[in-house]
Amino acid sequence: MDLFDTLRVVALPTTTNFRGITVREVALIQGEYGWGEFSPFLEYDDIESAPWLACAIEAATHPKPQLYRTHVAVNGTIPALNNPADLERIIDSFPEVKTFKVKVGTNVSEDLYRLDVVRTLRPWAAIRIDVNGLWSVDEAEMFINSAGDIEYVEQPCATIEELSELKKRVDVKIVGDEILRKAKDPFAIDLAGAVDYLMLKVQPLGGIKRAHKIAEHHNLPVVVSSALESAVGINYGLTLAASFEEMNFDCGLGTGSLLAKNVGELPIVDGKIAISEVIPNLDGLDVSADRFEWWKNRIMRTAELLQ
Ligand SMILES: [Mg+2]
Repeated sequence: MDLFDTLRVVALPTTTNFRGITVREVALIQGEYGWGEFSPFLEYDDIESAPWLACAIEAATHPKPQLYRTHVAVNGTIPALNNPADLERIIDSFPEVKTFKVKVGTNVSEDLYRLDVVRTLRPWAAIRIDVNGLWSVDEAEMFINSAGDIEYVEQPCATIEELSELKKRVDVKIVGDEILRKAKDPFAIDLAGAVDYLMLKVQPLGGIKRAHKIAEHHNLPVVVSSALESAVGINYGLTLAASFEEMNFDCGLGTGSLLAKNVGELPIVDGKIAISEVIPNLDGLDVSADRFEWWKNRIMRTAELLQ
């Protein structure tokens, strides 16, 4: 049977507006080794989507790697919201996590307020911030110097040159995310002196095997995160995180809490998620016939790029 004959596309409503999204559409395929998820964001072109499809195919058709743990500690993810009630509800949806990742970068006073709320409600938690490359070096330096204790800053500026300049000015550790996953060739960039740790996302980096090769190539400590995926994709991210012998960070894989409906349950218990065999329940979640055709065409075009 053709792998793509198993294709299902589902629409998962989010609990809150997350990077402009209120419904997350994801495509799922089933192979010999289980389900794989293909869920590049809608605006991504086929070239950028190609590693996501390679990952879905790997998940469905290859045995899982050796795992070094059964559970993965996760961080809470706080979107760029400013309403105190919304913030409190989101913080509460991450039970017992020891770390929060707070999205910042668009408005300094709102961003600092958001950090304050998290610190007040979870004074024991570590806080990391994710800027998605929005700051200039000066903006980054200024914010970091006024933000108090932060574990690390993820992608404070967009380019390698800016990150290197920032690293000379501040002591806080810097994590590279977009610099890696948006690179035309993640093996062709030189991150020395620009970032301290790598953010690995299994779909945009083309699967577990390739993510390991990228980590080995750059020879930096890693942290694993998701791209607001369904339980199928998150479980594959958990698998990637558990396949590293050394994992010193809580991973950004608790984003299932941001979905109002999901294809499976991966509850956060004591700040951790157990890796499981996710057999998705797709009842009532399928997209319209039009949207299914759109995804099917996208997959067929993208698959041609993998050959
Ligand atoms: Mg990021």
